[in-house]
Amino acid sequence: MSEIALNYIAGAWVSGASETKNINPSDTNDVVGLYTQGSRADAEQAIAAAAAAAPRWARSTPQERHDVLKKVGDEILARREELGRLLSREEGKTLPEGIGEAARAGQIFLFFAAEALRLAGEKLASVRPGLDVEITREALGVVGIIAPWNFPIAIPAWKIAPALAYGNAVVFKPADLVPGSAYALSEIISRAGLPAGVFNLVMGRGSVVGQAFLESPKVNAITFTGSVETGRKVAQACVLNDPMKKCQLEMGGKNPLVVLNDADLAVAAECAVNGAFFSTGQRCTASSRFIVQEGIHDAFVDAVTERLKALKVDNALEAGTHIGPVVDEKQLEQDLNYIEIGRSEGAKLHWGGERLNRATPGFYLQPAFFTETTNAMRIAREEIFGPVACTIRVKDYDEALAVANDTPFGLSSGIVTTSLKYASHFKRNSEAGMVMVNTPTAGVDYHVPFGGRKGSSYGAREQGRYAAEFYTTVKTAYTNA
Ligand code: NAP
Repeated sequence: MSEIALNYIAGAWVSGASETKNINPSDTNDVVGLYTQGSRADAEQAIAAAAAAAPRWARSTPQERHDVLKKVGDEILARREELGRLLSREEGKTLPEGIGEAARAGQIFLFFAAEALRLAGEKLASVRPGLDVEITREALGVVGIIAPWNFPIAIPAWKIAPALAYGNAVVFKPADLVPGSAYALSEIISRAGLPAGVFNLVMGRGSVVGQAFLESPKVNAITFTGSVETGRKVAQACVLNDPMKKCQLEMGGKNPLVVLNDADLAVAAECAVNGAFFSTGQRCTASSRFIVQEGIHDAFVDAVTERLKALKVDNALEAGTHIGPVVDEKQLEQDLNYIEIGRSEGAKLHWGGERLNRATPGFYLQPAFFTETTNAMRIAREEIFGPVACTIRVKDYDEALAVANDTPFGLSSGIVTTSLKYASHFKRNSEAGMVMVNTPTAGVDYHVPFGGRKGSSYGAREQGRYAAEFYTTVKTAYTNA
């Protein structure tokens, strides 16, 4: 590997138009690496390579796809510590979180390695005499992958693995803030035995490389994860350029955690702190609204505050750190700005919310815990994407459910209760795509569907067997036997 990490196009490592570097958010003196930046022409070359390679890969055997994905999964798992360290250094997750994310990426590849062998169709008797009907799933062609920075290995993995497992060629654009993790993952994929052109990495700006994916008629599907704002542009560009381009969007959240009077207080505080503040609150599934019944409200606030006081906010790579830095200066400013907005709207900043100095210069923020919030305030309605959460006091379960659903988002939701009746009612009536009972809103498995409703998601679900809905197209064949 050269000193500057390169793009991977048509089976070769190639330079782009310019260079960029990424900075460790725990220590801004630490340059993680130098990376090439692809141009529009690089993106177009990658798309052309993928389009040329796609028909052959669509005809590959399930065994061939399985073997490639298994090799990738095994190597990621074997190197999880090294990859986890890289992504902690690059993105600011704590080391255990980074290693956990890398391991998850490995497991995702192994899951889809097995799925490649299992992809099945159906054979039915026709309603007409003498005919058989076969329903099969076929690859789409070229899938364009546009990923965010907050899970720099796991999210690309949960898009790349199913795309390849179901016989598609891939052009992958990682977020500009995290080229190191994307490069490391791509390097492993490049050595797994794929024919040239089936997998391509193009690092570069969303407005350049991402836009080229959206506009190209050779890209048959776009899977995007990121903000609502960008997601809307992506959807519009897909439809305007080619109404036949399949499009899947996973976007933001403003996820509620309901705490009822009958809740186990320790479970409630654990769900709140873990769900809202771990990974520095930079998870689309983070709980950012605690909706708490009045009988337990004060005890809940005390229990959460006690736990927050015990958390160490520091360099992500240091042992004992619970919460690493915010990803960059821009995100830190956004978080601090929302904290000011919360104060000016009349919410009470009960704990934290200050920028912190540590031994290494970084983007450290004491988690901010608001009380006396209403659901009309901007801090309760808009995604902040940092360690900032607010508490809304409610009278009873009915009000809690109404407040939980009163949001333009619908990604995940949670309830802490010992009542089977309320837990069951909440599971049926929450307007979120993922509902948690007595467990944090942010913890999800890798082998089951992931995705939301309302303004959070568009298109088919990600992960698990449901991923086949997006990455394949259905064919119905009739035979007059
Ligand atoms: P973002 O700013 O929307 O960027 C996401 C990706 O889109 C990046 O790769 C970005 O490239 C690219 N992009 C930007 N403009 C584009 C354009 N005009 N055309 C094509 N691509 C373009 O989001 P982010 O800040 O990376 O991630 C944070 C957001 O992701 C939060 O809202 C979070 O909730 C959401 N998220 C959702 C999920 C989920 O599954 N629901 C999971 C994780 C994160 P650049 O990096 O070059 O700008």
